[in-house]
Amino acid sequence: MASIFSKIVNGEIPAWKVAEDDKFLAFLDINPLAEGHTLVIPKKEVDYIFDIEDPLYAEYFTFAKKVSKAVREVIPCKRIGVAVIGLEVPHAHIHLIPINNIYDIDFSRPKLKFEPEQFKATAAKIAAKVQL
Ligand code: AMP
Repeated sequence: MASIFSKIVNGEIPAWKVAEDDKFLAFLDINPLAEGHTLVIPKKEVDYIFDIEDPLYAEYFTFAKKVSKAVREVIPCKRIGVAVIGLEVPHAHIHLIPINNIYDIDFSRPKLKFEPEQFKATAAKIAAKVQL
């Protein structure tokens, strides 16, 4: 069965997309730890990130780097924190999270709630800054 992220890739379910090319997609996490919390995925469905073959693996991180720059331009923060968890969705994804301190990337914290309009506006602002 296709992962929920493959369904996003295939347009079967919506997402707040911020960047896309033929191999990768970035979109906002629906349960964010911070405004601008973005997930970056390979379109090819691979569960475990370290099973992604070379050279796709390196290309994937290069794509994530470009997205991280755009997130940082839009969301004031000290850094973009990077996390790979993968316990919930079996489709590789890199979390890009604007952080100012260690607690901002604590996944045990309650997630933030945003209205659809805010997700839409944040995604549009980040998308406008992405340079692939
Ligand atoms: P994990 O697999 O533990 O890294 O967690 C999966 C992440 O994907 C969580 O942060 C979820 O909020 C996020 N997530 C799950 N479904 C969606 C979706 N349809 N759109 C955006 N983010 C999602």
